[in-house]
Amino acid sequence: MELTFLGATGTVTGSKYLLNSGSKRILIDCGLFQGLKQLRLKNWAKLPINPADVDVVVLTHAHIDHSGYLPLFVKNGFSGKVYCSQATRDLCKILLPDSAHLQEEEADYANRRGFSKHHPALPLYTQEDAQAALELLVPVDFEQDIDLGAGLTLRFSPNGHILGSAFVRIHNQKTSILFSGDIGRPNDILMKAPVRIKQADYLVVESTYGNRLHDLDDPQVKLAAIINQTAKRNGVVVIPVFAVGRAQELLYYIHLLKSSGNIPDIPVYLNSPMAVDATEIFHNHRGEHRLTPEQCNALCRTAHMVNSIEESKRLNETKGPMIILSASGMASGGRVVHHLKAFAPNPNNTILFVGFQAAGTRGSAMLDGAESIKIHGEYVPVRAEVEYVSNLSAHADYSEILDWLGGFEKAPKKTFITHGEPIAADAMRLHIEEKLHWQVVVPDYLETVSLN
Ligand SMILES: [Zn+2]
Repeated sequence: MELTFLGATGTVTGSKYLLNSGSKRILIDCGLFQGLKQLRLKNWAKLPINPADVDVVVLTHAHIDHSGYLPLFVKNGFSGKVYCSQATRDLCKILLPDSAHLQEEEADYANRRGFSKHHPALPLYTQEDAQAALELLVPVDFEQDIDLGAGLTLRFSPNGHILGSAFVRIHNQKTSILFSGDIGRPNDILMKAPVRIKQADYLVVESTYGNRLHDLDDPQVKLAAIINQTAKRNGVVVIPVFAVGRAQELLYYIHLLKSSGNIPDIPVYLNSPMAVDATEIFHNHRGEHRLTPEQCNALCRTAHMVNSIEESKRLNETKGPMIILSASGMASGGRVVHHLKAFAPNPNNTILFVGFQAAGTRGSAMLDGAESIKIHGEYVPVRAEVEYVSNLSAHADYSEILDWLGGFEKAPKKTFITHGEPIAADAMRLHIEEKLHWQVVVPDYLETVSLN
């Protein structure tokens, strides 16, 4: 086998790994680069492989940084099967058309404002491209061996990150490799713990929090304090959330806080059509998460679901106290950007981040104390409080990853650290070397390694 790293090196986005085994070429994850402009430009650059030469794509989960390049990959000639779990398929049906919509909107906006260097500015891909990609998805069950031909087998195991997310194991008669995808946390309130893996000859492991530990406190305490303080000022709590995963978790926490009387019964809005649909998908995949049907219903009833653009705009005229959850989670696009424009200038309001903020995103700038952020070509002052609750993350921190690695009965021949910013990836390497004494490598972009 031979493995080439086509993304998620030195960054948490753009996950793409090409595995060559005999006559087969398999792409594991097909993610979009996000965040810094130099990364986003990579989405436009020609890949060093011809998509038509790839036999199979495998998705670890539906998040756009793992699936969002697929429409372009298909447009550029890929026509094979795309294996994923059932819930990943359902979530991709929401996320990929939405991603296309964002691309179209961006191009449209650039054309109207004339700030693109290209005339006319074109979207990276369109809704039609997204639909064509969805046609190729082949949903399969967890813990089933899938024959990829040429002696290769594929298996998904739940990894607790979001609904449908999986460890991906591929093996031929001689060698096995496990891709961690994004690893969830052992004690997440919604998702079940990642399954323990005992063996793999090679391992590709994420390192988003390779240099950080999550707070051990109950996130409800900080969440309640932030909501109460803002409500006292009649302010608005704007929470940028990933439509899939964090939105549902936040709603569930807010439901718990309201029903225990720890926060007042102020209006809560879920302003992301995608998040609304994803919440529905939670109902349809009960076996994968910890909630009972009653808890699922309570979660859904916690917020007013905002669907139309008009309703979304009206929210910006509405007075607090209230809570608005809206995508995207790093405030790099989506409806939340309009809420930031409306609410960030007022010191009575709070902008609350609950997930990882990649370099170059508005979220990361605000957490670093930016006094203003650029939205649609204008600078918007940030006078609202900016808060962060770290232990709502959907990613294991390094100590949780080390615990999970402890399930291996024998060290892999080599472990590759990806999906982390450079400092985080290198810190994860050191942690694994020091604690487990494994052979660990942080690969470079486009590096190829042979696996024997
Ligand atoms: Zn993810």
